[in-house]
Amino acid sequence: MEYAKKMLVIANWKMNPRSIEEAKVLASEVKKHSKVSPHVEVVIAPPSVFLGEVRRACGPKFLLGAQDVSSEKLGAFTGDVAVSMLESVGVSHIIIGHSERRAQGESDESVAKKVATVLKTSLNAVVCVGERERDSHGKYFGFVEEQVRSALRGVPGSKLTQVVIAYEPIWAISTSSPGARPATPEDAHEMILFIRKIISDLYSRASAEKVRIIYGGSVDQKNIQTLLEGSGAQGFLVGGASLRAVDFSMVIKTIHAF
Ligand code: PEP
Repeated sequence: MEYAKKMLVIANWKMNPRSIEEAKVLASEVKKHSKVSPHVEVVIAPPSVFLGEVRRACGPKFLLGAQDVSSEKLGAFTGDVAVSMLESVGVSHIIIGHSERRAQGESDESVAKKVATVLKTSLNAVVCVGERERDSHGKYFGFVEEQVRSALRGVPGSKLTQVVIAYEPIWAISTSSPGARPATPEDAHEMILFIRKIISDLYSRASAEKVRIIYGGSVDQKNIQTLLEGSGAQGFLVGGASLRAVDFSMVIKTIHAF
């Protein structure tokens, strides 16, 4: 199976759970309930202090993700975590430019630097893009286009197999506003095609096929089937539902059966 054709599911635990004990329980529950096969890659991205324990609790069938990384290699950057550190504890995927980090001041420029840093290793960069809201004139397409172009600036075509673009419209993220809803499969599909076209214009059609484009925003066990059928996404970034082991395992199971 071609790398980019495999489905990818990433559990973004964000700043949860409260303690190492709770993280161990959650990871063990996810492992107990979820069937993982070579056809679906499942990445658990806990807070970085829990990476070691989650790795031990989940075992080698699950991949390990980080929620952010420094653009610097090493040194006097208090509070930051370097890509070499993440690599050394077994991380394979690094989320970059999540909207919650962008809301704290992460710029397109900083995202691009982090992407470049990650791509100097063999790890995968999961670049989050997505508009805050949709206007009736379609200006949000231009906004997403700029995020994608900027993140890929300077990325050689040979590194595209390590790039995942996560389309996460902010208005669809469960914690963004009360009652947030996922994008419709049609809306997600349209944006995924648009992003693929941008990458194709930047590189080539064949190169664009190497990039996995996934969807995130209020994905759960109830809507995953329709999103799978209609969005054309090659995977999903799951926030809230990934903290509920049984629900998350249902998401994996549904993707597996698709
Ligand atoms: C996210 O913030 O990455 C996310 C997908 O969150 P949720 O699934 O809770 O909307």
